[in-house]
Amino acid sequence: MSARAWIGLGANLGDARETIEHALKALREIPGIESLTVAPLYGSDPVDAQGPTFVNTVAQMHTTLAPLPLLDALQSIEQTYGRERPYHHAPRTLDLDLLLYEGVTLMTPRLTLPHPRMHERAFVLRPLMDLTPDLLLTQGNLQALLARCSDQKLWPLSR
Ligand code: AMP
Repeated sequence: MSARAWIGLGANLGDARETIEHALKALREIPGIESLTVAPLYGSDPVDAQGPTFVNTVAQMHTTLAPLPLLDALQSIEQTYGRERPYHHAPRTLDLDLLLYEGVTLMTPRLTLPHPRMHERAFVLRPLMDLTPDLLLTQGNLQALLARCSDQKLWPLSR
C-alpha cells in the first residue's frame, strides 16, 4: 500500500538551485519513494528567516514509508547538505518539510501533519497548486489561501 505525500523544498545558501536538484535526485533514490513529480521552481523572499532569497518548490510522491521514516529520510538528506542550525530560523542550505501525508493528522514533538504553517506560505501554496490545484486544506482551497499571502513576494524561476 502506498500513500500520497507532499514535500516542500527550500534552499537559500550557496547554489540554492543546484542544492534543490541534488535533493530531488536523493529523494528519487530512496527505497519506498515512488513516482516523484516536481512543481516548477520559485524564488521567494525569506519569511520568518534571515539571509538571501530562497529557491522553493514542492514535490509529490507515492510512498510506502510511514510518516516518521519518511521524515528520517528527509532529515538525512538535509544533513548531507551540511545544514547548520546555530540558532532558530538561522539561514540554511536546505530545508525539507513534510507538508501532507494522505490520511494522516499528527501532532507529536517530532512531527506535525499537516505542516502547521504551510497554509500561510505562498512559496508552498503556489507550487502545490501547480501540482494539485484541487487540493483542499483544512483552512480552505489553495487559491483562496494564496490570495491571503499576496504580500509575500514570489517569482517563477526557469529550471
Ligand atoms: P524547521 O527548522 O522549521 O525545518 O523545523 C525542523 C523541526 O520541525 C524538526 O525538529 C522536525 O522534527 C520538526 N517538524 C515537525 N513537523 C514537521 C513537518 N511536518 N515537517 C518537517 N519537520 C517537522
